Amino acid sequence: MLSLRNVDIQYVKGIGPARASLLAAELGLRTAYDLLRHYPTGYVDRSTFATARAVFDSLCRGVELPSIQLKGHFISFTVQGEGAKMRLVGLFTDGTATMECVWFRGVRAMRSRLKTGVEYVVFGKPSLFSHILQMSHPEVDSPQAIAGDMQAHGVYPLTEKLRQRGVNSRVLHAAVRSLLDSRKHLEDFIPKEVLAAENLPDIDSAIREVHMPGGTDTLAAARDRLKFEELFLIQTDMLRRSRRRKAQSEGLLMPRVGRWFNGFYHDFLPFELTGAQKRVIKEVRADMMSGRQMNRLVQGDVGSGKTLVAFMCMLLALDNGYQACLMAPTEILAAQHAATLRGMASAMGLGLALLTGSTPAGERHRIAQGLTDGSIHIIVGTHALLEDTVTFRNLGLAVIDEQHRFGVAQRARLWTKNDVPPHVLVMTATPIPRTLAMTVYGDLDVSVIDELPPGRKPIATALRSENDLPAIYRALHAEIAAGRRIYVVFPLIDENEKLDLASLEEGYKEIVAAFPEAGVAFVHGRMKPAEKDWQMKRFAEGEAAILVATTVIEVGVNVPEATVMIIRNAERFGLSQLHQLRGRVGRGADRSYCILVAKQKLSADTRRRLEVMTATTDGFRIAEADMEMRGPGDIEGTAQSGMPFELHIANLALDGVMIGRARAAAAALLDADPELTATANRRLAVALRSLAVKGIDWSKIS
Ligand code: ADP
Ligand code: MG
Repeated sequence: MLSLRNVDIQYVKGIGPARASLLAAELGLRTAYDLLRHYPTGYVDRSTFATARAVFDSLCRGVELPSIQLKGHFISFTVQGEGAKMRLVGLFTDGTATMECVWFRGVRAMRSRLKTGVEYVVFGKPSLFSHILQMSHPEVDSPQAIAGDMQAHGVYPLTEKLRQRGVNSRVLHAAVRSLLDSRKHLEDFIPKEVLAAENLPDIDSAIREVHMPGGTDTLAAARDRLKFEELFLIQTDMLRRSRRRKAQSEGLLMPRVGRWFNGFYHDFLPFELTGAQKRVIKEVRADMMSGRQMNRLVQGDVGSGKTLVAFMCMLLALDNGYQACLMAPTEILAAQHAATLRGMASAMGLGLALLTGSTPAGERHRIAQGLTDGSIHIIVGTHALLEDTVTFRNLGLAVIDEQHRFGVAQRARLWTKNDVPPHVLVMTATPIPRTLAMTVYGDLDVSVIDELPPGRKPIATALRSENDLPAIYRALHAEIAAGRRIYVVFPLIDENEKLDLASLEEGYKEIVAAFPEAGVAFVHGRMKPAEKDWQMKRFAEGEAAILVATTVIEVGVNVPEATVMIIRNAERFGLSQLHQLRGRVGRGADRSYCILVAKQKLSADTRRRLEVMTATTDGFRIAEADMEMRGPGDIEGTAQSGMPFELHIANLALDGVMIGRARAAAAALLDADPELTATANRRLAVALRSLAVKGIDWSKIS
């Protein structure tokens, strides 16, 4: 049977060579099969005509209208402006009112094609412009030309160029219909039993339905099927790779719990572990004893105590004769981790070093020595750890804090530090919903610290405008007098954003002037590390009661005396960033506050976003809300995920239930037929083989 995959799109009725090359260039559609897989994003009704009068009235009442069509003729055409500003205005009437049709591109072509006094059908989205009814870039056809196509049809994703060249939704619809009428069958790579169990339609009916819907229920079922298919393919692929990797990849065997872990646990542990911390340590231990390489993500909200968990896992590695490293995204954070670990472990005689970009050469040399001879047990650092000059005697565990800051390729370099790759523990306080984690992190095992240490009081969060600043400042004097500390955060300084630096410095001066009684420290990303450290230290030690900063303090910084977080221009931050920043306070016993100071005038969307922050302190709920509003592609960390192909119809943010279904179905299938050798699964195996192979084997990388 001739597969539609082998039919060049130019041979589909109504396409031809010119349109074919356009479709290939603009949308990557090359075959008849590609065309069928190009799904509509909505539907329009071409079986009825609107009247200009009624459309005008509706728009005047503020009613938003979809694309509509009118039948009538042009009264006149005028070409206005010149060069790039040139536009064509055609005055159109259907006898009930007039409407301006406007073209900004292809002006000459349109002008020579269209005539006055001849009957046309115009189709497009109507709008009001200075109280005049308008349609820009409408599709214009003679009623005869489209007589056969006057029915409901899909609205297809298109580019401007395609539209300009007359390749519109109606054209695609006609082409798709001719294909569907030819009654060629598509191969269904989802096994029949799976479809039956999931109660989903087969591929032929789903494709027909999505292009030519028969009704809302059948359309919904068809869309479900197509979403399921995408997700099922991804999940099967990921699970299969992950199972193979687990079966094959040798890992360092670490069965012992010895003097490091036990000694710390009994003599130095500063507090009782939370139940969640204990559980996660147990999960990690099980991995380290399995003889396979650990590849585990620990998600835990800000302040849930991930550092301690990481530290105790590192002690387990030490107990088995290995070294461990902890990599953090910023120097401030690395330095702080080193200080924390030193504080907890110096009495135990632990060899601990800190390596960052600003470590002097002599010290580097000593560190290199200590790492090779094994006298350094744990090294904390930034990207500097990844350099080729850093070699270990026997690295057994690599912990990566706040992983979204590191690229996939960078992290992969850790693997080469040992003959047998070390166990990898990735920690993130930017939780992503579990269903999404399953997909973007592939085969990473996920642990969740879903409990905060006892005694934390929720951080009271308020949204205020800049006009409220004087009142806010008045309240802060009392906090300072009570010995508490305050963060004031301004948007990030980017290499190119000189303006931001100006506003940051101005903000700093304003704070200095407003709080004569307090020391004010100041840090931003473009400062020299030594200067940064000195400023941070002043704040941490209480010499400065206020820290004016950019988002360099976003992750991890821990000053328990800080009780107030003020975020200026809060509207310019993403939700997960705001959540991270807020997590800098509420770390001690005192009640803490977060005040989001935004512009007076906010768009409805921005206000809604900021109100999520005032409504909840749960990082998972915030991540979910963020994703619903912005889409998963924008969530930090997911862009670098290893999706094997682009999703066309499924949405990782919104189709959580479907992701779960697809994953369960994939797991069941692989349980029964791990290598997909059964005849019923043959097509699935072929489909998986043809998935675009990316440069990196993403299943291997955390
Ligand atoms: P995060 O998960 O955000 O990295 P940290 O590891 O920085 O959180 O911990 C936040 C604070 O909670 C630290 O001051 C830490 O000492 C403290 N902490 C951690 N675990 C516990 C616990 N079990 N009981 C009390 N305090 C804890
Ligand atoms: Mg942390």
